[in-house]
Amino acid sequence: MDRSRGWQGSSVPEDRTEAGIKHFLEDMDDAGLNKFVKDFPGSENCHQPEAKTWGSRPQVLEPRPQAPDLYQDDLEFRPPSWPQASDSQQYCSASAPLSPSARPRSPWGKLDPYDSSEDDKEYVGFATLPNQVHRKSVKKGFDFTLMVAGESGLGKSTLVNSLFLTDLYRDRKLLSAEERIMQTVEITKHAVDIEEKGVRLRLTIVDTPGFGDAVNNTECWKPVAEYIDQQFEQYFRDESGLNRKNIQDNRVHCCLYFISPFGHGLRPLDVEFMKALHQRVNIVPILAKADTLTPPEVERKKRKIREEIERFGIKVYQFPDCDSDEDEDFKLQDQALKESIPFAVIGSNTVVEARGRRVRGRLYPWGIVEVENPGHCDFVKLRTMLVRTHMQDLKDVTRETHYENYRAQCIQSMTRLVVKERNRKPWAQSKQVLGSP
Ligand code: GDP
Repeated sequence: MDRSRGWQGSSVPEDRTEAGIKHFLEDMDDAGLNKFVKDFPGSENCHQPEAKTWGSRPQVLEPRPQAPDLYQDDLEFRPPSWPQASDSQQYCSASAPLSPSARPRSPWGKLDPYDSSEDDKEYVGFATLPNQVHRKSVKKGFDFTLMVAGESGLGKSTLVNSLFLTDLYRDRKLLSAEERIMQTVEITKHAVDIEEKGVRLRLTIVDTPGFGDAVNNTECWKPVAEYIDQQFEQYFRDESGLNRKNIQDNRVHCCLYFISPFGHGLRPLDVEFMKALHQRVNIVPILAKADTLTPPEVERKKRKIREEIERFGIKVYQFPDCDSDEDEDFKLQDQALKESIPFAVIGSNTVVEARGRRVRGRLYPWGIVEVENPGHCDFVKLRTMLVRTHMQDLKDVTRETHYENYRAQCIQSMTRLVVKERNRKPWAQSKQVLGSP
């Protein structure tokens, strides 16, 4: 099969595994390969999502500050991650079909809302497809990885606990000022399984203790960027391996970036961090500890931060546009959500009594601020967005935009290596021209 012709017709290799891509590239003639290097949407011209409903999605157009150099210049493809000896049993059994009891139960019968109708002869049954998908996903469970970043003391852990009503930071050890001066940025992970009405969510919180704490914070975004890339790399390898059934997806779906309420807008560190990461992850900016500001101050700070985000060319997560047939209420809510950026939040792990009700809030000598009161802060908006309305979209953008860009860059690096290898071995070309085996 002439695969290079297929590529020139701008199709993709059929076998998308690492080895498949390598073969595909090796079989391609020189003209095709050069065209590929020029045209392929890699670091110079990253993948852009199709213009679906989200006209204003963050489109990754510039080279990322640090291209992941998976294969460097060693002219060797790293071997795919073969299963270890101890994995062999699992690997062999993985190809066997799932036992009937392990598979989702048949959706026919009771679940089919139209099945009983004798009159409806036109009914084929694919209207049950959403039910089938729903059952399967509920059975499988959901996962979501949320990163929190920003200077320590801005209320990240308090907010995460308030958002998910769990104590995710039980074992946290707070460092003294002296220790923090020397501390480098660490990445820590806390995972928790939450269940609500029979739906299971595996939530992973990735924290970045030490971020912005040192005297010199130059490039303290680097370990965070590396962590995100490592998760993409792991996923790329798993996806290119032989057993793709139980891939664990650790890709970071969203990063809540905490901005101090005490500065005048963004600090250089905030700009640096967001610019370095906006092509890797969905950034949602947060104005921390909003109870330390008056309402006009909150508005002013929000406006300033929005202007600076625009001015510095930072692409934070963009909410998809509403469908035109949505009802007016929904459209207004959606508009309010978009105008709330950066979300001004208050966190608290204590329940206090306010106007005869027990609420999550902060008690001051002059009154109570309620975390879940929309008149006091944007906590409810943030939680609704993150959990109820946009969790799936955050995952989709991670997969379709951020991961695709990473993948495209990897494939481009591999292509460059093949070209380099060919240029170093002219005998290989002549062998191909002569058609020798
Ligand atoms: P982290 O280091 O960013 O995780 O910050 P923590 O969540 O540990 O919070 C640091 C301190 O700020 C604690 O004393 C919290 O009680 C307090 N805090 C957390 N959230 C808020 C908030 O929204 N407003 C105010 N005023 N204080 C807060």
